[in-house]
Amino acid sequence: MRKYIFVSGGVCSSLGKGVAASSLGALLEGRGLSVCMVKCDPYLNVDAGTMSPYQHGEVFVTDDGAETDLDLGNYERFTHSPLSKANSITTGQIYESVIRKEREGRYLGRCVQVIPHITDEIKERILAAASPETDVTIVEIGGTVGDIESIPFLEAARQLITESGRGNALSVHLTLIPEVAGGELKTKPTQHSVKSMQEQGIQPDILVCRAPVMLEEDTRRKISLFTNVDPDAVFVSYDVNTTVYEIPLIFYKQKLDQVVLKKLGVESRHADLRPWKIMMEKFAARHGSVRVGIVGKYMDLHDSYKSVYEALFHAGLETGTIVELCKIDSSRLEESEKPEEILGNIDGILIPGGFGQRGTKGMLIAAAWAREHKIAYLGICLGMQIMVIEWARNVLGWNDADSTEFNHETTHPVISLLEDQVNIKDYGGTMRLGQSESCAKTGTHIFTAYKKSNIHERHRHRYEFSNQYRDAMAESGLNIAALTPAGDLVEAAEWPDHPWAVGVQFHPEFKSKPTEAAPLFRDFIAAVRSQSGGAG
Ligand code: GLN
Repeated sequence: MRKYIFVSGGVCSSLGKGVAASSLGALLEGRGLSVCMVKCDPYLNVDAGTMSPYQHGEVFVTDDGAETDLDLGNYERFTHSPLSKANSITTGQIYESVIRKEREGRYLGRCVQVIPHITDEIKERILAAASPETDVTIVEIGGTVGDIESIPFLEAARQLITESGRGNALSVHLTLIPEVAGGELKTKPTQHSVKSMQEQGIQPDILVCRAPVMLEEDTRRKISLFTNVDPDAVFVSYDVNTTVYEIPLIFYKQKLDQVVLKKLGVESRHADLRPWKIMMEKFAARHGSVRVGIVGKYMDLHDSYKSVYEALFHAGLETGTIVELCKIDSSRLEESEKPEEILGNIDGILIPGGFGQRGTKGMLIAAAWAREHKIAYLGICLGMQIMVIEWARNVLGWNDADSTEFNHETTHPVISLLEDQVNIKDYGGTMRLGQSESCAKTGTHIFTAYKKSNIHERHRHRYEFSNQYRDAMAESGLNIAALTPAGDLVEAAEWPDHPWAVGVQFHPEFKSKPTEAAPLFRDFIAAVRSQSGGAG
C-alpha cells in the first residue's frame, strides 16, 4: 500500500518547509524507497507563472512546462521525484476545476461546497500525483497553520490520514523555537502551533523544530509533553553555516528516517547517503574564490533567482571553487557614470532571465563590459537577448536595435515575437514553456560543456532571436551556437574572440543539482576561475 507524509508548518513562514520536506525525501530515497513530492499552494493563482518574482520568488519550470512554486526546485535538487504539472496543486486550479464541473452539471444538482467538493478535488489530485512505482508521497502544504487559505488542504490531509488507516499516513509539522533576549529558547509558539493543528483534527506524528542551535534533551521532552508527540519524534533543524544540502545528513544523525520508517511500518533497510557525503566533502575541499556579478532587477529577494544562485553553488562544488555572489541591481549601472566602480573587481558576469524593459539598459552596459574586457559571461534567456541586442548596437552600429518587448518602434527588432505569439491576450501559461531539444554546433562552448549536440533544457519565454537578422549577425561574427532541431529558432549565441561567453535561450539552472552541476554553469565557473588566475 502506498504511504503518505503530509508536511505542514506553523508559527511563521520561511522556516524551510520545502527544504525539510525535500531532505526527508532524500533520506527515504537513501533507504531505497521511491518518493513522489507534491506541493499544495493555498493561493488563488492557477499557477505561479503570473506572479512577480518580488512577491513569491522565482517561477520554477518543470519538463512539461508547469510554472510552479520554487519549492519544486528544492524537490528536484534533493530528490529524484519525477515532477510535472501533477505535482503542483493550487487553490486556483482546484476552484477552476470544481467550477468547471459545476457548469457542466456534473454535481447532479447538489449544492457545491468546500467540504466535500473542494476537499475531494484536492484528495483526487494528491492521489493522482503518484506513479505505480511510488512508495511514499510527500505532500507539502504551503502557508502556515491558522491561515484561512490553507484550511481546505489541511482538511483534505486530515481525511486522507484517517482514510489511509494507521501507519499509512503521517503528519510532519515544522515549527519555530525562537530565542529571546538573554539567549533563552522558547517552546510556547510550538505548543500553540500544534494546538492549531489539533483544532484542524490532525495530531502531528513528528515535529521538526527550527532553532538557532540543537535543542537539549530536556527541551525536546518538554515539547513532547505539551504536544503529544513522542519524545524520539521531536527533531531539530538547527541553523547551519555550511549549506542547506547538509540538512539530510543532519536529520539522518538524529534518525529522522528511522522514526519515519517505523511509524509507517516499513521494515528497516540499509541507508545509502554516499552522494550527500561526497557532496559535503567537495564542499569542504573548495579552495580559491571567484566573484560573479549577477546583473538583474530583482536583487533584493534572494529567492527571485533561487535556481541560478543554487546552480552557481553547484558549479562551485564541482570545480572546487567558492563562488561569491555579487548581486548587482542593473539600475545602479544605469545611474553610474563609471561602470568600472561596480564591475571593476568582478571576475564573471551572469545576466539571468527577466521580463519588461526596466533595468535592461544596465544589463546592456554589463554585457558590453564583459565583451570588451573579455570577462566570462553567461546570459540566460533575457541574458542571451541582451547579448544579441548589445552586439547589434555596438558591433553592427544599429543604435536603436532592441527587443519588441522593450521598444515597439525600433527599426532593428533583433528580438521579436514569434508569429503564433502575436495575438495572444492571456498572460498565464501562454509562453514557450518546458523542455525541448536544442542542437549545439560542434566547436562551440556549449558543445564542449554538454559533450554532445543534442541538449534538452527548459524554456520560459515569449520573444525570440529574429531570423530576419540571423545572416547579418552571423556575417558580423556573432556565433549562432545552437538551433532547434528544425533549425527554425536560434537557441544560443557566443561571442567570437572572447575566452568564454555563452547566451542561451533556455534555462540551464532548473536542472542543476548539488550532486551534478549543470554543464554550462560548471564550465562558466571553470572559465571565470581560469581567467581570474584561480586564486582568491
Ligand atoms: N522577457 C523575455 C521573453 O519573454 C525573456 C524571458 C526570460 O528571461 N525568461 O522572451
